[in-house]
Amino acid sequence: MIISVASGKGGTGKTTVATNLALALGEQVELLDCDVEEPNADLFLKPLISRTEKVETPIPLVDGEKCTGCGKCAEICRFNAITVVGKKVLVFPELCHSCGGCMLVCPEGAISETGRELGTISFGHRNGIGFINGRLRVGEAMSPPLIRKVRAAADPNLVTIIDAPPGTSCPVIAAMNGADFILMVTEPTPFGLHDLRLAVEAVRVLNIPCGLVINRADIGDLQVFAYAESERVPILMTIPFDRRIAEIYSRSQVLVEEIPEWRRQFFDLYGRIEAFTKSWRRTKQCAN
Ligand code: SF4
Ligand code: SF4
Repeated sequence: MIISVASGKGGTGKTTVATNLALALGEQVELLDCDVEEPNADLFLKPLISRTEKVETPIPLVDGEKCTGCGKCAEICRFNAITVVGKKVLVFPELCHSCGGCMLVCPEGAISETGRELGTISFGHRNGIGFINGRLRVGEAMSPPLIRKVRAAADPNLVTIIDAPPGTSCPVIAAMNGADFILMVTEPTPFGLHDLRLAVEAVRVLNIPCGLVINRADIGDLQVFAYAESERVPILMTIPFDRRIAEIYSRSQVLVEEIPEWRRQFFDLYGRIEAFTKSWRRTKQCAN
């Protein structure tokens, strides 16, 4: 079971939900922090980090001795990451998507691979819960390849909970694609509703079942609730706006450990996710 915890906008409590869900399940679960531009799940889970690895992506390295300046590499690159000026080939590593096309078409075999550092992946655990996080190198713009590396490192035998980046662009798609369920965290405000609409549209394109956690549920208005009903997105849990919860969060602590009642609530949330996913798959099979 892969559950991706996402939100249209930042600051909705996505990491809180992902971390508490992992802790409520206890063992046989792995938390992946794929919010690689600003990973912070470790602040709440407090895992023991056992190792950190550098992650690179391949980029072309041109051998000027062999190159004839024919321009075939520049012609195939749709990202303008390699160009020929006169007889000299220039590579722009930040634009390269590591597709390898230039290497394949070079008639002189003048292009080999070198690495560009994307960031790091760290591995750890806490009380039987596995933890992996990705951290994008400062100045690196391309986070999806690092997110895919974090996901590829997950143990397929465990329940995987992904803390996805906020938004609806390529990084969040990389964190949601292939998940069994998308748990969207939102808040009942006009901004929350606006970004939730975009997030639901993205999830519909991916054709993955989804449900909602509404955080600070008793502030704002009822439009998010009405939208969820009209789009048939189930509301699986609400978290009230509560001073005690805010204090726990501000101390980087977790609800399920500070207020035992919440352990049951998050455990039940997982049960609802499982039940909804099964029924969604049955309905899909019938429709096919
Ligand atoms: S395709 Fe090869 S030979 Fe042609 S310009 Fe590019 S690197 Fe040089
Ligand atoms: S690997 Fe792909 S993206 Fe990178 S320079 Fe070559 S053709 Fe362009």
